[in-house]
Amino acid sequence: MIAPDVQTGRDLLARLIESADMVLPFTGAGISTECGIPDFRSPGGLWEKFSPIPFDAFLEQQEMRDESWRRRFAMEEKFALARPGRGHRALASLYRAGKAPGVVTQNIDNLHQASGIDADDVVELHGNTTYAACLDCSQRYTIEWVRARFSEQGGRAPDCRCGGYVKTATISFGQAMPEAALRRAESLTRQCDLFLAIGSSLVVWPAAAMPLLAKQTGARLAILNREPTEFDALADLVIRDDIGLVLEPFIAH
Ligand code: NAD
Ligand code: ZN
Repeated sequence: MIAPDVQTGRDLLARLIESADMVLPFTGAGISTECGIPDFRSPGGLWEKFSPIPFDAFLEQQEMRDESWRRRFAMEEKFALARPGRGHRALASLYRAGKAPGVVTQNIDNLHQASGIDADDVVELHGNTTYAACLDCSQRYTIEWVRARFSEQGGRAPDCRCGGYVKTATISFGQAMPEAALRRAESLTRQCDLFLAIGSSLVVWPAAAMPLLAKQTGARLAILNREPTEFDALADLVIRDDIGLVLEPFIAH
């Protein structure tokens, strides 16, 4: 059902959480918009400004690597200043209470870790943009390191000591998905008895497969997102309101 108002949505969600042994939160960019990080698909979102750089283009052209780092540095203030929002804090409370084993996320902003969820319990499907790594030897680099080399070289993206390309630790279009994270997400989805999709348009695979898998394997499905999704008809509860507003009372103080 679609919650008719915020308070009813909260009440119904609280009941679903209470009757579940294991809640699996699955999050997308919508949980971080109140933290100042824009999502992709909302009006005014990132895709209206930049078309994404596919992985092949990054590999093939120095200019694309330079451009992708210019864009990343332009976002640095947003990522560096962002603090967990009410949604992140509510999920961290569920985690501390032993209701949720962690969180599966499409986000790359590190805010679930910053909210107190152990890094090992944050399953990142699209990687993490708060650090960089070499595509060949996996050596990690800080964004600051890349930025310093980039300016020293007059706006040229630096390579790793091994000669490999250095990229934010995120998954681009056309890049292979992280197998271990995918397997873990799938296994958690099969185990949970409440799948809680928050702030994702649920259109990109694997996000588009997990709500269905959850339902097929016997879990209940709740969707919290401002805009409708394709899975709303399948869901036990749909809340089409602001994430922070809805989840604020779930923060344990
Ligand atoms: P999306 O942009 O496709 O969907 C976000 C959804 O959140 C939209 O449907 C929007 O209506 C909803 N939303 C936004 N703010 C909300 C709010 N305050 N309350 C309720 N709903 C709200 O995001 P996506 O499905 O996660 O896919 C985009 C991909 O881009 C992600 O997979 C991720 O890798 C990447 N991305 C990550 C971040 C981040 O890390 N914060 C930000 C932008 C994009
Ligand atoms: Zn290397």
